[in-house]
Amino acid sequence: MNAPVARERLTVSEPSVFDHPEFKNHEQVVFGFDAATGLRTIIAIHDTRLGPALGGCRMWAYKNDAQALTDALRLSRGMTYKNSLAGLDLGGGKAVIIADPRTDKTAGMLAAFGRQVDRLGGTYITAEDVGISSDDMEIVAGETRHARGTKATGLGDPSPYTALGVFVGLKAAVAHQFGSEDLTGRIVAIQGLGHVGMYLAEHLHNAGAKLVVADIHKPSVERAVSEFGARSVDTKKIHAVEADVFAPCALGAGLNDGTIPELGAPVIAGAANNQLADERHGLELKKRGILYAPDYAINAGGVISIAIARPGTEEAKVRDKVIAIGQTLTHIFERAAALDLPTQTVADQIAEERLEHSRG
Ligand code: NAD
Repeated sequence: MNAPVARERLTVSEPSVFDHPEFKNHEQVVFGFDAATGLRTIIAIHDTRLGPALGGCRMWAYKNDAQALTDALRLSRGMTYKNSLAGLDLGGGKAVIIADPRTDKTAGMLAAFGRQVDRLGGTYITAEDVGISSDDMEIVAGETRHARGTKATGLGDPSPYTALGVFVGLKAAVAHQFGSEDLTGRIVAIQGLGHVGMYLAEHLHNAGAKLVVADIHKPSVERAVSEFGARSVDTKKIHAVEADVFAPCALGAGLNDGTIPELGAPVIAGAANNQLADERHGLELKKRGILYAPDYAINAGGVISIAIARPGTEEAKVRDKVIAIGQTLTHIFERAAALDLPTQTVADQIAEERLEHSRG
């Protein structure tokens, strides 16, 4: 048996699931343990009114069970909204494995996780997330057919589809803010040139945009400069660059009390998850006349590719569904303008309406 990940022991004597601040009508929360491998997992199924709950599996060295539970509850609910807004007939769920992916991960542990997913009979469908690679997911898929994004079911890396969705969503935002979606000569500041950011840079360059880029990883910056004629700036300054669009494609919480007063672009459209440090920052952006493309609406291309790819699926079918992100965003922007509401509030409303009209 593997040594379990070092954890803080809690001295909680009260029940802490149903009273948890992140518990929002979750349908099922399953705690899994496998003595042979030391696997500890929490699978949260938030909502299955639209269909089985799809959401990735995250492996993380949580300090304690409470942290893991918080993440599972919060992320599974996020998937309900994301899948609903993306027009998928899928609910929201998420699995977290309490282990350090660099030191604790074993094939046995991943197989045990696969068996736990299988026991849920398809109510929860898993996929990769932070700390879980596509090779890991192949091991999980050896134990259950309820795993996606594998070689057998998927189109491989979801990042190009995420980038395509961000590109069409960014054009929809530009059209709404400036009256034309033409990107020729428009300046786009990209924060983060990773899997998604680099593909996005290529789309934008091909569409005639001028790029300003920043990344802590110097070779990525050098590539964008040489291949796309990008101008490089300091990572601490990229949000403040005078541009038409700021595209956050690195970390979450980049739109906060410190950065918002310094923002240099009237449009925010990028791939990063959880861009607003707090809900109120959406209102802050609106007050300043900055159009914000809600993160979970614009970055849904990856989950769309994972959700609908099957053996033999034509790539064009996936691309069409990803390209529809542009129309979803236009709808959000128009409704937000008509109702004088922040865009992320409207995105939530549209996701909730679809859930309410579902069979549940
Ligand atoms: P990635 O790890 O490949 O890329 C992130 C990049 O950001 C890296 O190149 C990194 O060096 C850079 N970076 C880190 N800190 C930075 C900083 N302070 N300033 C500038 N650059 C910095 O990740 P990714 O897969 O490209 O995802 C990017 C974002 O999009 C993440 O927030 C991710 O959660 C989100 N997202 C990704 C997908 C997908 O399909 N990959 C789908 C939905 C959402």
